[in-house]
Amino acid sequence: MSVSIFTKIINREIPSEIIYEDDLCIAINDTHPQAPIHILVIPKKPLVNLAEAEESDKDLLGHLMLVISKLAHQQGIADGFRVVANNGRGGGQTVFHLHFHLMGRKSFSEQGM
Ligand code: AMP
Repeated sequence: MSVSIFTKIINREIPSEIIYEDDLCIAINDTHPQAPIHILVIPKKPLVNLAEAEESDKDLLGHLMLVISKLAHQQGIADGFRVVANNGRGGGQTVFHLHFHLMGRKSFSEQGM
């Protein structure tokens, strides 16, 4: 499997503004934001997507959810945000390294992003 752009960012092989990092994941600003706040939360483990996740990834997936919550609080959007994980080409996934989109400061009452 080829190395994803997110692994290159994690390894500091290509530059990115990393706004959060711990042993298991990083968070970066999306380069093509769909909302005023649009952060990607990315595990360091190069899981392809949720469909490829296994029982052994349970703790990691839970950790990512809690990081999303922490970032939502830090960004002041805890009362209104959206989390999206596009899965597979049919689901709109373009980078095949699991990531969660955290989006906020936009009205999500309408359909779509
Ligand atoms: P998805 O379509 O769900 O796979 O989302 C991939 C996301 O990664 C898109 O929203 C892109 O704008 C974003 N993206 C791609 N390359 C970079 C990069 N180098 N830094 C930050 N975000 C990126």
